Amino acid sequence: MLNVINVNAAYGGIKALRGVSLEVNEGEVVAVLGANGAGKTTLLKVISSVMKPISGEVLFYNKKIPSVSYQSVKMGIIHVPEGRQIFPKLTVYENLMVGAFLNKDKKKVKEDLEWVYTLFPRLKERENQYGGLLSGGEQQMLAISRGLMGHPKLLLLDEPSLGLAPIIVNQIFDILKEIRKKGTSILIVEQNAYKALSIADRGYIMSTGVIEKSGTSKELLSDENLLKAYLGE
Ligand code: ATP
Repeated sequence: MLNVINVNAAYGGIKALRGVSLEVNEGEVVAVLGANGAGKTTLLKVISSVMKPISGEVLFYNKKIPSVSYQSVKMGIIHVPEGRQIFPKLTVYENLMVGAFLNKDKKKVKEDLEWVYTLFPRLKERENQYGGLLSGGEQQMLAISRGLMGHPKLLLLDEPSLGLAPIIVNQIFDILKEIRKKGTSILIVEQNAYKALSIADRGYIMSTGVIEKSGTSKELLSDENLLKAYLGE
């Protein structure tokens, strides 16, 4: 469904992606791993049209992705950014409604809301609380749920485990498995390599803007030297 082909991207003179190619097939969970500054966030920004590459192509179902990110959302590419970026002065419910802004079918929105509340009952309990007053883990749950309200075909997740206690990370990863069961493909960027590979079918390892290695999760997890060399684990 997603083909990233030989993409180069930069911030002024700083090259962040150099000849990056990867693919995600329908129904897959794919992990992109690598240390700080490897270019993982930049890759997601290019896929969701938040950032324009210098060269190369991104195809979604064999069509070029649009140049405006809101059009990408319409196509089903939804980006849950690093640091969550929920709206602190909106309630949990209002944050979720922002995610549903393209869906004019009120009945469907209600069903989606019920579904995300089933996935994350904590959000239902805090429905009327300001987003900014939630814990870090709850904010991450809200960010993912807001993404789900937009009906992603491909969900882009940037570091969902960042700064969260292991027990919350486990909860969130369990839910990602549920989301996948619904048929949503997931491209997940993580520094927590083991955790990401535990739910992913395949993975790519990035270092300084280049994909150094790719393989099935099993292959990558069995290569200790690789994990040590690129991920410091
Ligand atoms: P992290 O896990 O720290 O977010 P990352 O793998 O996601 O790392 P990117 O954020 O994509 O990496 O950064 C890739 C490179 O681009 C780094 O060298 C970074 O310093 C640089 N970079 C990222 N954002 C900007 C920006 N807004 N302006 C200038 N340089 C940037």
